[in-house]
Amino acid sequence: MSDVRLRFAPSPTGYLHVGGARTALFNWLLARKQGGTFILRIEDTDVARSTQESVDAILQGMEWLGLDWDEGPFYQSERFPVYREFVERLLAEGKAYRCYCTPEELEARREQAMREGRKPKYDGTCRDLVTQDADRPFVVRFRAPHEGVTAFDDLIKGRIAFNNEELDDLIIQRSDGTPTYNFVVVIDDATMGITTVIRGDDHINNTPRQILLYEALGYPVPRFAHVPMILGADKTRLSKRHGATSVMAYRDMGFLPEAMVNYLVRLGWSHGDEEIFSRQDLVEKFTIEAVGKSAGVFNPDKLLWLNHHYIKESSPERLAELLVPFLRERGVDPSTGPSLPQVVKTLQERSRTLVEMADGALFYYRSEISYDEEAAAKHLVPGTLPLLASLAEKLDACADFSHSGLEAAFKEFIAEKGIKFGQLGPAVRVSLCGGTASPGIYEVVEALGKDETLRRLRRAVAYLEQ
Ligand code: GLU
Repeated sequence: MSDVRLRFAPSPTGYLHVGGARTALFNWLLARKQGGTFILRIEDTDVARSTQESVDAILQGMEWLGLDWDEGPFYQSERFPVYREFVERLLAEGKAYRCYCTPEELEARREQAMREGRKPKYDGTCRDLVTQDADRPFVVRFRAPHEGVTAFDDLIKGRIAFNNEELDDLIIQRSDGTPTYNFVVVIDDATMGITTVIRGDDHINNTPRQILLYEALGYPVPRFAHVPMILGADKTRLSKRHGATSVMAYRDMGFLPEAMVNYLVRLGWSHGDEEIFSRQDLVEKFTIEAVGKSAGVFNPDKLLWLNHHYIKESSPERLAELLVPFLRERGVDPSTGPSLPQVVKTLQERSRTLVEMADGALFYYRSEISYDEEAAAKHLVPGTLPLLASLAEKLDACADFSHSGLEAAFKEFIAEKGIKFGQLGPAVRVSLCGGTASPGIYEVVEALGKDETLRRLRRAVAYLEQ
């Protein structure tokens, strides 16, 4: 193992968002590529907004995407004593101070600054207080330098610099004794030995404050890579208005995890013109430097295209397993009826999602398929009755129900009757599948098997005889 250490640090206040999943994926890929360690840390210090349900949803999303972690999950809510110790240390070293200003005083000064056209920031009233008063409520502020520049070379965005003058004396501990966000992130990243922080670019403004804390604490500053956000087609930040934003919603819509991974990584990262990347390819080829500086636009059509690709590539056995819950949801018990992998094989070419595949598979498992009205009116016509009846006999006598055996039997049948395939095919499709948009006839017959094929053909004959 190398000493590269990366982490994903979600706040459990909702489901795993596609943006968060992409951040997790970039961290995971870099850790795997460099033989490093990937850590999962749950940032649940905001007790009011954090829920166990959300933690579960995040873990489930990570698992679905195959993003396994080597250490954790660590919960910030269990680390309060650690943070307290660091606050004490900074106080003892004079790098932090107690601030007794009340919220009302701060608000009044803020308003005055605004009126005078000054930037509202803490005015330093308590910065150099000599007397301390343990009985009065206080917050703890970090004694930040007010001159100079704090800069870092972001691995994605390039050099970013802030004037320290712009930065406030950050509150690191609230009056109720709880530590604040920017502080705990630094303590965790420092004590967990994180070497590269990959996170959303909404954290860029936090970075200089965090760097000053690392320096004050005497820890090495990690490298930073701020990933641009994901936009919807209208170039505004991706939100529910654009469709699903939860990773698990994509599973429920019938996407395969490898399609999601491939899609998410390409949303911002590229490697020449290549579009298709297996997990192994990604682990070999991914570099954080090749992530683009500008925001990626979420394109559902491209995700569908990738999903279709992976559905075509997957083994029927695996897809069959993944398809079961979708079929159950539709009232189908796939353990009765044709072999599911066989059914899947007939649908892979034509299904972009597992939902489409499940819908396409229904006719195989319905004992009484209903005929599409328009298709039946057009193709189940009296003239086809004798053809369907004798086809049933022909197939009854056919010993070879393999694809090639069936093809031969159908060709022979057409020649015997002196007809064209077009005069027979649509009626057979409607008889077997209910409509004409179906997989190939030989595939369907092969999957249904002899008994069920004959039953369906004879049912169509009976329907025509009515
Ligand atoms: N918990 C933060 C978030 O969910 C991430 C903080 C970080 O990665 O430094 O946005």
